[in-house]
Amino acid sequence: MAAHVMTSLSDTHSAALYERARRRIPGGVNSPVRAMRAIGRDPLFIERAQGAELFDVDGNRYIDYVCSWGPLIHGHGHPAVVEAVVKAAKGGMSFGAPTPGEIALAEEVCGRMETVEMLRTTSSGTEATMTALRLARAATGRTKVLKFAGGYHGHVDGLLAQAGSGLATQALPSSPGVPAAVTADTIVIPWNDREALIEATQAHAGELAAILAEGIPANMGLIPPSEGFMELLRVRADACGALLVLDEVISGFRVARGGAQERTGVAGDLVAMGKIIGGGLPAGAVGGRAELMELLAPAGEVYQAGTLSGNPLAVAAGLATLGLLDEQAYLRLAAITEHLAQGLREAAAAAQRPVQVVSVPGLLTVFFCAQAPVNLADVQGCDLESYGAWCRALLARGVYPPPSQFEAWFPSLAHTPEHIEHTVEAAQAAFRELA
Ligand SMILES: *Cc1c(COP(=O)(O)O)cnc(C)c1O
Repeated sequence: MAAHVMTSLSDTHSAALYERARRRIPGGVNSPVRAMRAIGRDPLFIERAQGAELFDVDGNRYIDYVCSWGPLIHGHGHPAVVEAVVKAAKGGMSFGAPTPGEIALAEEVCGRMETVEMLRTTSSGTEATMTALRLARAATGRTKVLKFAGGYHGHVDGLLAQAGSGLATQALPSSPGVPAAVTADTIVIPWNDREALIEATQAHAGELAAILAEGIPANMGLIPPSEGFMELLRVRADACGALLVLDEVISGFRVARGGAQERTGVAGDLVAMGKIIGGGLPAGAVGGRAELMELLAPAGEVYQAGTLSGNPLAVAAGLATLGLLDEQAYLRLAAITEHLAQGLREAAAAAQRPVQVVSVPGLLTVFFCAQAPVNLADVQGCDLESYGAWCRALLARGVYPPPSQFEAWFPSLAHTPEHIEHTVEAAQAAFRELA
């Protein structure tokens, strides 16, 4: 693969578009991480993509490890997904009335996650976590929510307390515009900290509506739960009468057919979904036991709605995407991820670079630190400067990594052995360039 090596960033079409964008779009982007500030460069504007490859407006080709931050598990433009969306569009973009596809999607998800007996579809992952919390509060009659530092659950006000992802990247403890009263009911403790978990659940035992955690945290970089930690979440939630809300917006349908819950064996009472469930179009969902889900209007009293919820195009894309995800696909994704992770480890070792490549099937993060991080504070202690420089060097070699240490790589089923080999070569050269 001969990717272009750009000599000057300032006279590119991307640079011109960025300048134009900043006049009419705050910061020039519609979601902060896209601006690439965390790796000290300007964003690339994308023209098109196919399979695992991304093409920018300057004609440069990249192997894409962002894949829209997770939804594109089959890569870009999978024919079956595109065909399903085109067919749906021809039949009508949106009706504001129920369609058969929504039932098929709910049935598909219930078939994959044992604890999900019913599903309510939303337009984003943010709405899914927001709805899950409203449900948990209504079901328990309590208000407080326990979350983990570095856990990202969308941009809903009450959860913008020590969130990961774009917020960790920008080192904002929270966000201006979020009233203290709104986060006052949010308790934040470090991930993987058993003692803090026991203490907090004892101190707030009668007040906790929910313990909220990512199925496998991937928004402070990938930090899997330590041995027994998910089990402890389940035990502590039950002990204090709180619901366990698992945010599987990233992990759902990615790390296993039934998501993180299948991998860890620990089930949530409510599950938030997003990303893959929309196959690249805007969609999210919340699911759980029927007795909880039927609290939602119009079955129950808890209000939740959406003009475009269950949108026919998003449902078609999600169904086509899930339809291609059989056991074989998960085995293949696990092998692709391991090939990449192992290659990156060897590339770092060859360049004598102390990095930690943490991986689970379908996700990985390259941490620039001496030991694998176990929580957000550890990631904040990584060598973020070197990560940025390494990413810039990768981009110059035709590899598009997540432009922040606080994010995961998203290998897809469209990544071929050649893509991985090219990536590993580029990674090794980029590691060497740092030295
Ligand atoms: C992306 C993400 C969300 C938010 O989903 P949006 O569709 O961006 O609103 C919530 N939780 C997790 C774990 C995510 O990764």
